[in-house]
Amino acid sequence: MSTYSCPHCNVALNVNGYLILSVKNSAGMCGVVLMSDKLGDYSVHYHPSLHFEKGENIDFRCPGCRGELSYAGDQELVRIFLKDDNGDESTVIFSAIFGENSTYQISEQRQKTYGEMIAKFKDPDWYLKVREEDEV
Ligand SMILES: [Zn+2]
Repeated sequence: MSTYSCPHCNVALNVNGYLILSVKNSAGMCGVVLMSDKLGDYSVHYHPSLHFEKGENIDFRCPGCRGELSYAGDQELVRIFLKDDNGDESTVIFSAIFGENSTYQISEQRQKTYGEMIAKFKDPDWYLKVREEDEV
């Protein structure tokens, strides 16, 4: 099976088809969300006591170490690692904006985008920055 992991503590983040991430909404309410572990599937589940507004920037954290999952200091992007069935490793970056369904998967061999393209994903300079950082 595929394993998603935290870039900080390496804890596995997916169970039974769902990614489990700690979140804080813009009103400061904390909780957990279950997100489909299929790239491009944007179904998400959370307790009715939590509330998100379309367009709000969600603070995603690792449920293991509480580390921020924001990518390269950009609060609007979340980064986690993925090891697929074949043992291939890649970096998965997705939008932290609620309702913005964009995912970017980067590996040595290929790049894939899922969902709506957002401006950052179309910017070739942004893409190069990603590559440089991942090679360090
Ligand atoms: Zn962690």
